[in-house]
Amino acid sequence: MELSRRSFMAGAAGLSALALGAISASEAEAAPRPDGVVVTPQMAIDRLREGNARWVAGTSKRTTYAPPGQAPEAGQWPFAAIVSCSDSRVVPEDLFAVAGKNLFILRNAGNVVDDVTLGSLEYAVEHTGVALIVALGHANCGAVDATQASLATGTMPGGNVDSIVRLVAPAVEALPPGHTLNEAIEANALQSARRIQNLSPLIAERTAKGTVGIVQAVYGLSTRKVTFF
Ligand SMILES: [Zn+2]
Repeated sequence: MELSRRSFMAGAAGLSALALGAISASEAEAAPRPDGVVVTPQMAIDRLREGNARWVAGTSKRTTYAPPGQAPEAGQWPFAAIVSCSDSRVVPEDLFAVAGKNLFILRNAGNVVDDVTLGSLEYAVEHTGVALIVALGHANCGAVDATQASLATGTMPGGNVDSIVRLVAPAVEALPPGHTLNEAIEANALQSARRIQNLSPLIAERTAKGTVGIVQAVYGLSTRKVTFF
């Protein structure tokens, strides 16, 4: 069961994350849930990994971790926040095999982190008790592909799409010449995770305490697998 110290410690060993502190349930400061469950960053990533494994296997039903018996107006208790691309093929509840009301989801083309994204994440951390933030890129991302093309040709796409390209560009520009689209997609997800950590003092304080974790990942459209890196 998710609450046990044993499963928490077992899961902690395999973690690779930008900022995912090791805390015990008793040390967590998550918002109190009506069912008394204290969600830690490790519990949250374990739920996402387990859900994605079911999605990959194609046998899953969506699991709910929401406190049982709660009316929607009584509050919200998502266990993780996901910053994902708007791409219609990337649906966080599907690929993590969790029911609605379990994830606090922010989607935009390119899974970029701007001020509104940061403000939304700060709200999620402060008021909904999410224990984990995932910056989720995906294979064949058109926003990253467009950014690569803009940097290669020196021509911006035009309109407000330029705002997306400007946010993705630093991640792509830092890569060596001849890099692949997949490498650019990974770099963009990592950049989003770093922006969350570096540009939000509130979230940085929580990651320093270990009550909130930030991780980056990429979703493979054909494999259905989410790879945390
Ligand atoms: Zn995309």
